[in-house]
Parts: sequence; C-alpha cells; structure tokens
Amino acid sequence: MSKILIVEDEIPIASFMQTGLTAAGYDCACVHDGLTAADRIEQESFDLILLDVMLPGADGFELMDLIRPMNIPVIFITARSAVSDRVTGLRLGADDYLVKPFELIELIARIEAVLRRHHKGTNILSLGDVAVHLDSRRVLLNGQSIDLTNREYELLVFFLKNRDMALFRDTIYERVWQGEYSGDTRTIDLHVLRLRRKLHWEERLVTVNRIGYRLNSEP
Ligand code: CA
Repeated sequence: MSKILIVEDEIPIASFMQTGLTAAGYDCACVHDGLTAADRIEQESFDLILLDVMLPGADGFELMDLIRPMNIPVIFITARSAVSDRVTGLRLGADDYLVKPFELIELIARIEAVLRRHHKGTNILSLGDVAVHLDSRRVLLNGQSIDLTNREYELLVFFLKNRDMALFRDTIYERVWQGEYSGDTRTIDLHVLRLRRKLHWEERLVTVNRIGYRLNSEP
C-alpha cells in the first residue's frame, strides 16, 4: 500500500483528499502547516507527497529544498493558476501539479501516473475475494483464474481504482472505451452485467439511478 503525505492547510480540502484517497486504497497522513510537514517528512518514509504551495510556517516551495534530496515524488496542489507558480514548482523538481478545485478522479489519476513513473505503484488491486495482478493482467476469484475480455478487464480495473464513487456512464465510456460517448448505454450495461456475473458482484457493483454505477468496497 502506497503511503501518501497530504500537506494542506485548508481543512475541508485536506479532508476531501484524505477520505477519497483512503477509500481508493492509499495509506494517508495529513498535516496542515509547513513545519509539521518538515518533521513528518524527516521522521517517516512516504511514497508521495501532495504539497500545497501557500502554507503557514514554511511554504511548499521552501519544503521542496528538504524533499528534493530525499527523492520522494511530489505533486503540487495550488490555488493559484498563475503560470509562473506552476513553472516554479516544476523547476524545483515537482513531478506534477493540480490547480484547485479539482476532482478526486483526476487527483487519483495523477497520483497513479507519478507512482508508476517512480515504480512505486502496487501491482495488485484487490477487493474481497477478487484480486487483479496488473503486471500479468490476471484476475483471480478466490485464488481461481477468471477469464475476462480486454474491455471487461479495463472496466474492472477502472471500478477498483474508483471504488465507492458513483461513476457516470459517460465518464466510464470515456475512460474505458476512450471514445466520445454517444449516449448509447447498452455497451456499458452489458459489460457491467457480465462482470457482475463473472465475479459474483451482484451486491457490490450496484446501479446508481440516472447516473451509472458504483463499486462498493463493503458488500
Ligand atoms: Ca494553502
């Protein structure tokens, strides 16, 4: 499980990130000022740091001086949309940045990309008795290999990475089929039905009225 430090002084945003990332399977710690952040970074090991720029104590740019020699990937979280801030962040060695407000789904996608680049991602996604081995693309149910089509596999991985979130059909279509959504829901619905049946997920992979689907992390 990847360990992430959230450094953000706006409590609602920090809580939003912590709750969402915990549900997505990350081990999260959260601090609200630059000096406490510096202490935690020196005392513990993190796989990634989400770093707000404007912070009491020491700001995000100052913290980069401490973080850079430790080779921990950093994503800047900034309220400022000024191009100069983004350039400064990247020049100081950040791996990526996000401008507030952002959606959880985008945050998770950025985190995964950065962890993948640093080879720190976990290679197994699991939920209940289902385990997906991302390197070999094998899917196991109770330790038994399950045959999925490519689309079913991509759909399963997408649900597992965004568990407990109500996912719109058009979002699912865009991410899994990577095409423009025409409003035809049958393709998605059919794939979800087959996935449900193959994994015995009738209770977990639920229909969300007028939105799409949600994979529940609790049965
Ligand atoms: Ca701030």
